[in-house]
Amino acid sequence: MNNRQLFLRHVAQTSPAPIALEMVRAEGIYQYDAAGKAYIDLISGFSVCNIGHSHPKVVKAVQEQAAAYMHLIVYGEFIETPQVHYAKMLADLLPASLSSIYFVNSGAEATEGAMKLAKRVTGRSQIIAFNNAYHGSTQGALSVMGSEYWRNAFRPLLPGVLHENYNTQEALDAITAETACVIAETVQAESGLNKPNEAWLQALRCKCTETGALLIFDEIQAGFGRTGSLWAFEQYGVVPDILLLGKALGGGMPLGAFISSKEFMDQLIQDPVLGHITTFGGHPVSCAAGKAALEVLLDGNFTGEVQAKEKILQERLQHPAILQLRTAGLWAAVEFDSFETNHKVIKRCIEMGMVTDWFLFNASSMRIAPPLITTTEQIHEICDRVIAAVSDL
Ligand code: PLP
Repeated sequence: MNNRQLFLRHVAQTSPAPIALEMVRAEGIYQYDAAGKAYIDLISGFSVCNIGHSHPKVVKAVQEQAAAYMHLIVYGEFIETPQVHYAKMLADLLPASLSSIYFVNSGAEATEGAMKLAKRVTGRSQIIAFNNAYHGSTQGALSVMGSEYWRNAFRPLLPGVLHENYNTQEALDAITAETACVIAETVQAESGLNKPNEAWLQALRCKCTETGALLIFDEIQAGFGRTGSLWAFEQYGVVPDILLLGKALGGGMPLGAFISSKEFMDQLIQDPVLGHITTFGGHPVSCAAGKAALEVLLDGNFTGEVQAKEKILQERLQHPAILQLRTAGLWAAVEFDSFETNHKVIKRCIEMGMVTDWFLFNASSMRIAPPLITTTEQIHEICDRVIAAVSDL
């Protein structure tokens, strides 16, 4: 049996049509298959590889930490230097109120931890979430996922979750003194890029403060420079009570985090003691990789170049078959008339050496989220190739 057959037989599938490319190497913005064909990565592993693949500084940090120690003990018991240094670095880059970092293994776990923290701090249980939102696939995160299609088969889920429409007054009106937390992506990713209105996000902050509900921002996809600022919320003048990070946080290694004030986070210490436990959360190798990746991101000022690159996408990705182009930094949703058209373009892009796909809740939009290290020249090349793929329809 070849690897494709073994993959389909033994690696559990939840997609009826996985892309099933087999890469042997990845470096910078490229992934390479066994035949040596190079593919430009237009997904960045869903905003994981913001500084590209296998950056030498990240590889070195991983190798050195793996050689020093890997797993020692469950999270939070020993002083593990990579965790400590990465937590300090993140805290220095965040508003003062977001100073306590709980490292977990994934985005979904960050969501779970944040919802528990909000319940513990407020003593309330109602959660407000948004339609077309994605926060992970575990049962709690699934409960706040913004699509009945995905929730329905797995009921019963968490009780007391209300789903509202993003950017609406109704959503604000739904927040009351019963609400433990409101969980929102700062930019909705899987809806095919839906940005908040600034005034709405500010009103959301005010309503949470007024009612005592905690505001959770999920920047698992939007964080680490993707939208043109290190954290997307910086562009809206709003600070959440709890911030969720994942994906690029680990620099290519598995890592998630929920981040809040020391005062709130300390409530997980008692009643009950060990209010949240994880064996592998904040794995030292993941923390070393994440810190090295963040240093590369900051040293190269890649976030500062995002806006200019976004402008190129806006100017160049124009074609009669493209019905709408939505961007949020170096992150674009290219909307076609149907999933069928989008699928054809994506297939053509892959043939032409570009890896891309569609959005979970918006199958007629194609994703363009290349690593932030993509040069201006390479952005032009991507635009040339995408327009050529669309013209081949
Ligand atoms: N939140 C957002 C916005 C995401 O895009 C994702 C993953 O795609 C998650 C949460 C869940 O992260 P993970 O797949 O690491 O559990």
